[in-house]
Amino acid sequence: MTTEKTGAGQAMHGVEPYQETRGEEYMGAPMAKHFTTLLGAWKQEVMSSAAPDAKLIEKIDKSMQKIKDEEYGWCDSCGLELGLRQLEEHPLSELCFDCKEIAEKKEKTVGKG
Ligand SMILES: [Zn+2]
Repeated sequence: MTTEKTGAGQAMHGVEPYQETRGEEYMGAPMAKHFTTLLGAWKQEVMSSAAPDAKLIEKIDKSMQKIKDEEYGWCDSCGLELGLRQLEEHPLSELCFDCKEIAEKKEKTVGKG
């Protein structure tokens, strides 16, 4: 096991990164609560800006709903865990890296039609 030093420790939207405890259940209650707080803080930030991005707010709402439905944190396509670090950096992630790549390739191909 190696401990990677990425930008960890940086607060996102005023919320400190989640410190998981060893053996903790993925997207258990404490983790779900953290992302609800993070998304809520982000939403407040967006809404208090001069020109709130309605689409972004909608996406944040959708993610918050997914937490409630216990569907947040897994790839929409293959069901793989997105992982805590990916979600900290991209809280609106819905696809894992592999599926995202495939989706983007598809989009390009479809876009040509
Ligand atoms: Zn996937």
